[in-house]
Amino acid sequence: MRKIAVIGAGPAGIESASILARENEVLLFEKSATALSNILDKAYLFPDFSSASEIADSLNSKLINENIKLMLNTEVVDIVRNDSEWKIVDKSGKNYFVDAVLVTTGYQTFDATRKEELGYGIYKGVVTSIDMERMIKYNQIVNSINESPKRVVFLQCVGSRDEKSGNRYCSKVCCVTAVKQAIEVRKILPEAEIYIFYMDLRMWGQHFEELYRESQEKYDIRYVRGRISEASSTFDRKIQIKAEDTLLGVPMKMTADLLVLMVGMEASCGTRDLGKKCGIDGEYGYVKTATPHLCDNETSEKGLFVAGSCKRPMTINDVINDARAAAWSVGEYLQSDK
Ligand code: SF4
Repeated sequence: MRKIAVIGAGPAGIESASILARENEVLLFEKSATALSNILDKAYLFPDFSSASEIADSLNSKLINENIKLMLNTEVVDIVRNDSEWKIVDKSGKNYFVDAVLVTTGYQTFDATRKEELGYGIYKGVVTSIDMERMIKYNQIVNSINESPKRVVFLQCVGSRDEKSGNRYCSKVCCVTAVKQAIEVRKILPEAEIYIFYMDLRMWGQHFEELYRESQEKYDIRYVRGRISEASSTFDRKIQIKAEDTLLGVPMKMTADLLVLMVGMEASCGTRDLGKKCGIDGEYGYVKTATPHLCDNETSEKGLFVAGSCKRPMTINDVINDARAAAWSVGEYLQSDK
């Protein structure tokens, strides 16, 4: 039996570990106290509103496998090629020796306090899409004075497609997430006015466009093409928004009870650190694959593989498919390396 290290117990790590464990021993490293923390933060997933906790349960059940050793609270700090094998070093200095390594260290969300002009962390009525997901999950959508908001405004592209934040790329998932969350807010607050401010709406996936249409026709979500330049607080603790309607070419002001910042995806700290240490660091801190088309799970280092959103922003669906492809690539490598 060969030994493989999978670094990161998110959906990519668990899916690939469960496939690799059919014929190999897998050490699955996770630096936090729970697996799948990014999924467990969510209530429902787009575009079909499937329950995030059911998907997490289904992935977690794959860990019941005697060939998978899940190590929680175990942060990998170095990966070193050691003759024909790889040495993994954890934070406590312990070494593990394996035949191949699969990095699935994932993403983190953009820290909205970096956009000070939008008031996150300053005004209680400004929240992120991650906060909103929890509000939806616990059915507790409230404004800064703990009342049901009458007007909710979503702002797209926070920390993505933005020179100032250093992230010129599109995070791919936040357009459809805003549409999904707006519908969920409508279901909980049937009387509220709901607006989405967007640069352009990227409804690229299956059923995304239909969801966008439905949001307008059935749920009365209103769309404004424009950028919010500043948010501040009013005397009655509402949020005053300054924006430009870029379709009409006019400046505008609006007050809202809740401003939701749709924060983009960034490479996680683990992805940045390990990418640098292994010499596979690419643009924006994501890891670089050998070639984007035919070898998108391989790296420039033999026996070192990557999968999931440590490569670029991805949906959970894409992550799972990528993890399966990565497991196949690792299996091929181990066969050829025998
Ligand atoms: S998916 Fe939409 S909201 Fe997210 S960065 Fe791309 S265009 Fe902006």
